[in-house]
Amino acid sequence: MTRYFVKPEQISGNNISFSPDDAHHMFIVLKMRPGSFCTALDGTGRALYVQIDDLGRSHATGRILRVDFPRTEANVRITVAQALPRTLDKLEWVLEHGTELGASEFIVFSCERARENADRFLRKLDRWREIVKTAAEQSERVHLPEVNGILPFSEVLATAAQHELALLAYEREKSCTLREALPSNARDVLIVIGPEGGFTDEEVAGARSAGLLAVSLGPRILRTETAALVMSSQILYALESSDDAARASDRPSVGAANSIAA
Ligand code: SAH
Repeated sequence: MTRYFVKPEQISGNNISFSPDDAHHMFIVLKMRPGSFCTALDGTGRALYVQIDDLGRSHATGRILRVDFPRTEANVRITVAQALPRTLDKLEWVLEHGTELGASEFIVFSCERARENADRFLRKLDRWREIVKTAAEQSERVHLPEVNGILPFSEVLATAAQHELALLAYEREKSCTLREALPSNARDVLIVIGPEGGFTDEEVAGARSAGLLAVSLGPRILRTETAALVMSSQILYALESSDDAARASDRPSVGAANSIAA
């Protein structure tokens, strides 16, 4: 069933109104009509099953019939800090596929060997958020990953202390691998990926003194966009599968529409 992320203000009691873009998608692309069903995601983990009652090319409203709590989110929070690559399609690739994999947040940053011209890229933030939203809907996420940027590298380093573990992907690191750096109970990991030209020695030293651990992803050099996705999926492979089955028991779905309103 088609899924759409909505903001809290789009929900009022059991009624929900969709954005003009989502209405256009329903009406024009999917040829949905009043009476059709879809799923709305409010970003809190709830999936709201909705029957559309009014629909046109730029407006759609519906009624919430049922609420579920699908367990599609990873139990480890991964924040992907990605240096601006040379071309934007590479960044979009990281955002789209990182969302599918389960990343919780993206930070786009500039550094010495990353493209400057942040002004031009700033205007892309809305587009990047839209890419993440579409990928999150397609991959049945119930939380919408944030996209923040464009930060200078120093600000990325300043956020490192907020995370349980902060890792710098560094191809010249010979002694510490990702596998060794990852505690089996880590639940909140920041990963920082450099641009095509890599980090400068000063940046690596700055990262280390900010508390980041430099890790190797193996003996081969990966492209920047590959590194972000490989690192995310290796962390999920190591940490997500082990206690997935032991996660808290299913929360019951709410059948009565009356109890839906927050
Ligand atoms: N130009 C650099 C490579 C940069 S690769 C060189 O040839 O030395 C781009 C980014 O991907 C790096 O900054 C790093 O963050 C990440 N990366 C690529 N391969 C890696 C590896 N084997 N281990 C850790 N990080 C890697």
